[in-house]
Amino acid sequence: MSFHRWIGIGLLSSASLSRIYSTMASGKVKLALIDLSGTLHVDDQPTEGAVDALKRLRQHGVRVRFVTNTTKESVHSLHTRLRKIGFELEREEIYGSLAAAAEYIRKNALNPYYLLTDDARTDMPPNDPDRPIDSVVVGLAPERFCYENLNEAFRVLHQKRTDSPPKLVAIHEGRYYKAKDGIALGPGCFVKGLEYSSGVAPVCIGKPNEYFFRSALPEDVAVEECVMIGDDPNDDCLGAMRIGMKGYLVETGKYQPELYSEENRPAVSGIFATFSDVVQHIVGKVQKG
Ligand SMILES: [Mg+2]
Repeated sequence: MSFHRWIGIGLLSSASLSRIYSTMASGKVKLALIDLSGTLHVDDQPTEGAVDALKRLRQHGVRVRFVTNTTKESVHSLHTRLRKIGFELEREEIYGSLAAAAEYIRKNALNPYYLLTDDARTDMPPNDPDRPIDSVVVGLAPERFCYENLNEAFRVLHQKRTDSPPKLVAIHEGRYYKAKDGIALGPGCFVKGLEYSSGVAPVCIGKPNEYFFRSALPEDVAVEECVMIGDDPNDDCLGAMRIGMKGYLVETGKYQPELYSEENRPAVSGIFATFSDVVQHIVGKVQKG
């Protein structure tokens, strides 16, 4: 359980810090799964040192994959935006819950009512006008979360169909996220509200779903060789740790250290001030490995 200890970077002397690092510096890291919003950037601003840190990680032979619950924009838009603010990454390196949800919808041949932004809709299978709407898909869509739309979604879920009961698909159930002007509501409360009124339990697609993390891993990488870096203790770190990865938390996004005391701090593999600090830690491991 030594990996599961909390590290208060700001509170430790460099001597005690290096001691903890050395207990953790075992096992080579081959792949880093990296969260985007709150970790690499907040809105259109890269977090401190993140652009160079990402380059450094690649230079040390660590493969990267960007895993995001972002549902407000399509992968194409997200990729374009990240390039514009300085990150070097390929579109194929982004694995989002939108893509995972689209795959789920196709596999289950669903014809959903979408509570998504118009941009996110472009990543989804089109509706079939000749079949009834049989499901609801919810992502982060602030401009669509009004009573009228939520009521329409509720009515879809309330249908009593014995052949195939309606499905509620949550692209993710995020409670909140960090926006430019502060903390903002995620889609989770709307999913829970629909569940409450309709009695239909949601299928959750994105982080912290185990299926999501496993499907993000290439076949030639073992979970023990993989780390997850993110700003959400539960959805990023603990979710990944449940399948055997290490989960490193950064303090740049939604994580609010003041909400935790020594006793209830998240039991993640490590807490770092920035993404750049995590990279420094991993690069140390690669050099030693
Ligand atoms: Mg995040």
